[in-house]
Amino acid sequence: MQANSGAAPVPKRYKVVLLGDSGVGKSSLVQRLKGEWNENLSSTVGASFYRYTPLATSAAHAGAKLSFDIWDTAGQERYRSLASMYYRGAAAAVITYDLTSHDSFEHAKYWVRELQTNSPDTLVLVFGNKKDLGEAARQVPAAESQAYCVENALLRAEGSAKNAEGVVEAFDQIALKLLETNSVNSVREGGVVGQGNSNFVANSSANQKKEVNCCI
Ligand code: GDP
Repeated sequence: MQANSGAAPVPKRYKVVLLGDSGVGKSSLVQRLKGEWNENLSSTVGASFYRYTPLATSAAHAGAKLSFDIWDTAGQERYRSLASMYYRGAAAAVITYDLTSHDSFEHAKYWVRELQTNSPDTLVLVFGNKKDLGEAARQVPAAESQAYCVENALLRAEGSAKNAEGVVEAFDQIALKLLETNSVNSVREGGVVGQGNSNFVANSSANQKKEVNCCI
């Protein structure tokens, strides 16, 4: 054990990546974690990064210190080849779909398979967003996503970035699970996410264009 008497515990940092179709609300989830809602967000180009401290206040883990480096990736098909740069080594992934689009749920399954194959230690939470649009608009029944997540041993949540339902709770679920399992995938200093500050945007858009063009 390291001598650290009297010093505040150093929070453990975890890399968390957001994956899912363009338009399902990934950037809006990040905005919601900041306590904000903005109807007219511009599309994410490449990826952006936000540091967030989950509440994780269950009795068992009260006082535990951890923070998330959350990477919001662009959902467009043409950026798919870049996504592995962000999910590799991530402690957790929030694979998001739009409850009112069955297609986006099918595409979420693509990301689940991708992680199962290429990053099997990454904890996955499947998040059904836009619940505020109501049951009449829903295309993915809760029972369907529930069955899928049980079958694949995935965490699951539904909610709304717009009205805040279930968002903080979803990230708390991840925090508690990581604390329970004491994930080894915490961020290493000097690693790809060991740099930068909250709201750091990965690469300038000019650089991203270059990077994207090179990899299509
Ligand atoms: P991203 O491409 O996955 O990052 O999606 P955005 O966060 O940019 O959101 C795409 C669109 O969906 C925007 O018009 C948002 O205002 C809208 N949106 C995002 N989350 C919600 C939500 O929970 N409810 C509703 N009704 N609209 C949402």
